[in-house]
Amino acid sequence: ELCVGCGICIKKCPFEALDIIQLPEELDTPVHRYGPNAFVLYGLPQPVTGKVTGVLGPNGIGKSTAVKILSGQVKPNLGIFEREVSWEEILKFYAGTELLDYLQQVAKKTIRASIKPQYIDFIPKVFKGKVGDLLKANDERKQLDHFIRELALDTILDKDLSTLSGGELQRVALTVALSKEADFYFLDEVTPFLDIYQRMIAAKLIRELAESHPVILVEHDIAILDMVAETVHIAYGKPAAFGIITRPKGVRIGVNQYLEGFVAEENVRIRDYPVVFETRGHESDVEREILMEIPEMTKTFPGFTLKVAGGEVRRGEVLGIVGANGIGKSTFAKLLAGVETPDDGRKFDTVTVSYKPQYVTANTSDTVEFLLRQATRRFDSSYYQHEILEPLGLMPLLQSEVNHLSGGELQRVAIALCLSRDADLYILDEPSAHLDVEQRLVTTKVIKRAAEDKGAGIMVIDHDMYTIDMISERLLVFDGVPGANGLATGPFEMKEGMNKFLGLLGITFRRDKTGRPRINKPGSYLDREQKAAGEYYYYN
Ligand code: ADP
Ligand code: ADP
Ligand code: MG
Repeated sequence: ELCVGCGICIKKCPFEALDIIQLPEELDTPVHRYGPNAFVLYGLPQPVTGKVTGVLGPNGIGKSTAVKILSGQVKPNLGIFEREVSWEEILKFYAGTELLDYLQQVAKKTIRASIKPQYIDFIPKVFKGKVGDLLKANDERKQLDHFIRELALDTILDKDLSTLSGGELQRVALTVALSKEADFYFLDEVTPFLDIYQRMIAAKLIRELAESHPVILVEHDIAILDMVAETVHIAYGKPAAFGIITRPKGVRIGVNQYLEGFVAEENVRIRDYPVVFETRGHESDVEREILMEIPEMTKTFPGFTLKVAGGEVRRGEVLGIVGANGIGKSTFAKLLAGVETPDDGRKFDTVTVSYKPQYVTANTSDTVEFLLRQATRRFDSSYYQHEILEPLGLMPLLQSEVNHLSGGELQRVAIALCLSRDADLYILDEPSAHLDVEQRLVTTKVIKRAAEDKGAGIMVIDHDMYTIDMISERLLVFDGVPGANGLATGPFEMKEGMNKFLGLLGITFRRDKTGRPRINKPGSYLDREQKAAGEYYYYN
């Protein structure tokens, strides 16, 4: 006999894992169940014209399923799979709710949806040819020139799709989704591989679209989601088993409940610890030895010069690295790793470096376990189980073939692989890409502990400001002109580094009552006040 709560367990409700004090009313009837023992979804997000509606929650919790229902690709079965459920029954179930009007359109099959999928690496496999041709073929809203200008696509229009970097492909995919004429827009993660400046532009374009169309956005960069969405639905449950999508909440309250780990109206604890942000910059109370001196270096490519001002790295610290795309961060990593030689010909080879590249590719049919065993002799130790495999959620993936993993799974394997190797210095390039918020939190802890335990230095390049805030003890800041020149300075203490970096971008953050940083509206009173005071991030 199946549990009435989820239909997947036998007389034992899996909700107990969630500490649900009172079952929310929405849970009386599921929206959709894939099969007798398959994933079940409760609740749907509500597309609203003139608004960006955010969805906040882990991967595998039913967001795509919800979108397939809202776009008419999947007919909801209300949890009944023994027989065909009619639209009449479905609409009756939604009578009196805000979703009724919308679902009536879906039932009439008149809804047209435009979707930016989460993983975009399939695009060059499906569409052949030049960027410009793909964009022109989809230019239904006649805004292409605007998008090309804002997202700086002019230099890649003649490029073949198969040659694009992840950040370029992301901007192309977003442009295609925004260009279509549709009744409903669904954007599944827009920030991976974009720098902060590009994230802000993407946010602006999404808001412009939402003035006249309903947009639903799934986004794990919370600072950006907070800025772009008016309302959010929190999605929670047990990935791959069941998912619950809450009713909409104001974005500030919704994000805070999510970070707090307690969804108040529903009375559900979704995490047993809150996420807290430092309000003054981090001062490590540990005395740290010096691990290495970063030498002064220059590296010139045709059309691009990187200058590194030097500095020192301490044992056990995590250094955040911030700077625009195309400003020389990867080149810097390669110089330290001895993969590239500086202009003076003196290769830097005093430390061993373990490097996780920004774009992780899977081209082996080896299993995850096989790959990790090759990188470490400690695979069977309890340390490795507790500090790497379990927190990164790799236990269920060990026997999977690497080339069958999703982007988020592959990212976690790549992080584990990087930390498994013996090295003096670890460099992780955009570890947050494709990870959900929960996974970003856990990864932050895993990386910090690895630095302490190994007495190594760890450098983390990332564009998610919450991740950078939580993970870094000090900051390296890259300044310059993307694609032309870069200057690496620091390491700075957090406050100084954030002021320097955000000052270059002209972006200020205020604090809400809980201490969470929120991006100020450009030109707002606080934005002007903080700029005048030179306080861009740690400001109360
Ligand atoms: P999200 O978008 O939040 O990552 P999805 O809606 O894609 O989540 O998937 C939620 C769960 O539903 C996953 O465990 C997935 O394996 C399962 N699922 C998706 N499509 C089907 C299907 N056609 N049949 C059975 N299970 C499915
Ligand atoms: P980031 O990691 O900050 O995005 P990169 O270090 O990858 O930046 O690139 C900085 C600049 O150097 C870019 O303009 C890039 O095209 C150029 N560049 C990087 N590697 C090479 C190379 N091997 N040959 C020529 N130009 C390169
Ligand atoms: Mg790079």
